[in-house]
Amino acid sequence: MTKVPEMFGSMVFNDKVMRERLPKATYKALKKTVENGEPLDESVANVVANAMKDWAVELGATHFTHWFQPMTGVTAEKHDSFIQPTGDGVIMEFSGKELIKGEPDASSFPSGGIRATFEARGYTTWDPTSPAFVRDGSLYIPTAFCSYTGEVLDKKTPLLRSMERLSAEAVRVLHLLGKTDVTRVATTVGPEQEYFLVDKEMYDQREDLKLCGRTLFGAMAPKGQELEDHYFGAIKTRVAAYMRDLDEELWKLGILAKTKHNEVAPSQHELAPIFSTSNIATDHNELTMEVMQKVAERHGLVCLLHEKPFKGVNGSGKHNNWSISTNTGENLLSPGKNPESNLQFLLFLAAVVKAVDEYQDLLRITVASAGNDHRLGANEAPPAIISMYLGDDLDALVHSIINGEDYHSNKESRMRTGVDVLADFKKDKSDRNRTSPFAFTGNKFEFRALGSSLNIACPNYMLNTMVAEELRQFYEALKDADELDAAIKALIKDVFTKHRRIIFNGDNYSDEWVKEAERRGLLNLKSLPEALAHFMDEKNIALFVDHNICTEQELRARYEIDLETYCKQLNIEALTMLDMARTITPAVSLFVRELTDTVRTITPAVSLFVRELTDTVLAKKAVSESIPVKAELKLINSLAEKQERFAELTEELKAENSAAAAIEDNLEKAFAYRNNVFAKMEALREVGDSMEEEIAADYWPYPSYTDLLFGV
Ligand code: ADP
Ligand code: MG
Repeated sequence: MTKVPEMFGSMVFNDKVMRERLPKATYKALKKTVENGEPLDESVANVVANAMKDWAVELGATHFTHWFQPMTGVTAEKHDSFIQPTGDGVIMEFSGKELIKGEPDASSFPSGGIRATFEARGYTTWDPTSPAFVRDGSLYIPTAFCSYTGEVLDKKTPLLRSMERLSAEAVRVLHLLGKTDVTRVATTVGPEQEYFLVDKEMYDQREDLKLCGRTLFGAMAPKGQELEDHYFGAIKTRVAAYMRDLDEELWKLGILAKTKHNEVAPSQHELAPIFSTSNIATDHNELTMEVMQKVAERHGLVCLLHEKPFKGVNGSGKHNNWSISTNTGENLLSPGKNPESNLQFLLFLAAVVKAVDEYQDLLRITVASAGNDHRLGANEAPPAIISMYLGDDLDALVHSIINGEDYHSNKESRMRTGVDVLADFKKDKSDRNRTSPFAFTGNKFEFRALGSSLNIACPNYMLNTMVAEELRQFYEALKDADELDAAIKALIKDVFTKHRRIIFNGDNYSDEWVKEAERRGLLNLKSLPEALAHFMDEKNIALFVDHNICTEQELRARYEIDLETYCKQLNIEALTMLDMARTITPAVSLFVRELTDTVRTITPAVSLFVRELTDTVLAKKAVSESIPVKAELKLINSLAEKQERFAELTEELKAENSAAAAIEDNLEKAFAYRNNVFAKMEALREVGDSMEEEIAADYWPYPSYTDLLFGV
């Protein structure tokens, strides 16, 4: 077996490879682009392209692809081979132009109405800040994607722009504070990724999992997560083999896969990498999700990244650990030993507090999706109300600043294990609060409301931009101050006083918090349509336009795409449910049990079982009138009644779905899907699940929750 340090990054055109393979001048020019954001010369690109191609071909690559992140929610790639005809054969070639620019058809990607289909041209542009890599015989080049007329059509471009903005504003503030050696500031992200693994054979029998990524029917298994025996539990052999394989694949791609463990729900797991800069973390998280699914196939498994694959057990999220660091290696969210006298830290903390309060709607919007609607607000994920947790220590400090009181630090204490052979160790300053959507965790914030399948570019470009805006305001307020320290202190006090309502250290899952948050005037946007209704608020448009992240038209396009995606997903779910419920009984002989395999829908399956029961009753009666048949009759009655209700609801769902589909306005349509279609789906499911509980397991057409959750 190859050793991990040799394996790590072996498929990546990283700094080490570049140093070995590029002429010194080219390497230096490229470095300047990567580190200082300077534009790249085409002659340099030619040299880089050639070196990249030679390297990739040695690793077995025959093709290259511009890899980008359109608004579809998944990454996109189109592969071209390196071949170039020469008289009687071919040679492998790759030019700087091909490296820098690609031309995928832009009309087939969501554009929210910006692009008419006849204006098809779109460009992908190489992002040299994220290294290229080889995968499945192709050289992958991370790129940004825009239309011929320059509209941004992807998730990556706003992220890169927001990083530039935050850097510029942070550097100005730092220079004011005397840190003139800082020339760049980068945001860092470590995304913790949750997922489920199910057996491929069982997955294949479930139309809902295949088409929607989640179960639309399914009675709860007798055992769920109530024993709390899965979280951090010993990893099963099959899962361990998968995780090992996954780690290796990720390491080869230079992804810093670090932590793996079982999660709360049965069959649920987590993978966390070591953090990196936001854009690389984004590319790596997208890659991680893809590799997770590919590797699962090799193990006869399917990796589910949906936010709520199973009703009644925890769903999957993604924790976006986020911080800001300078090019001199300083973490700006690190409080240091004496936060009370660390004005720089307090200033950056104040910027985040102010941003989260003023743009709580955007943070909620950025995590809104059809899948995440099942989690936010349920007792498993941070609620739909955005608030911040600072921990007791910082909270006391903020309190003392607001009230002008002395601050007494809860100085670091030692953990005494009380067992001689176990070492005592330094305790963290504050406990954790797992219920907060936005928690300070020592030297970073952990944004916990993200759904598991979300592209992290979105929450991060929003977060970066809103903090950039606050830093811009801070700089303006401080730049002409005579007494800088006093002015900073006054500013910090003012910000904490005005925005203290966003800080909450208690239990975010409690009903009291919902009431308290309402009293404080915090938003509680329970579903995607409710959240998206705020996207186009004037202050939000101003934020993105002022910082050149996107134009108003581009932002509106994003809004329309989010709504359209939501409606489409609910439409697919409704149609899939109807298909699974299907009322037509195929013409099969009810006596030939083998044929039930073709009856893979609910209604005929229940009919078949009821027929079995009625046959039993008749048979018993034929033997003797005195044989009791009460049990069968009770079940026959119950199931027959449910079948009636099931059929009615099926019709109602069909009608609601058609009505919603006919609505023109996207927001109105999304509300119809939420309030009418989704509500009906829930009602239909309830009846379906209660029938599943009553019929014999081998009659039910789908693998049960027990099979799915405990089958690996
Ligand atoms: P947890 O207990 O929540 O798992 P960890 O300390 O293990 O906390 O970190 C979780 C994630 O946060 C990891 O991906 C880690 O790399 C990341 N992280 C740590 N420091 C930073 C930072 N400065 N910026 C961004 N992410 C960070
Ligand atoms: Mg965490």
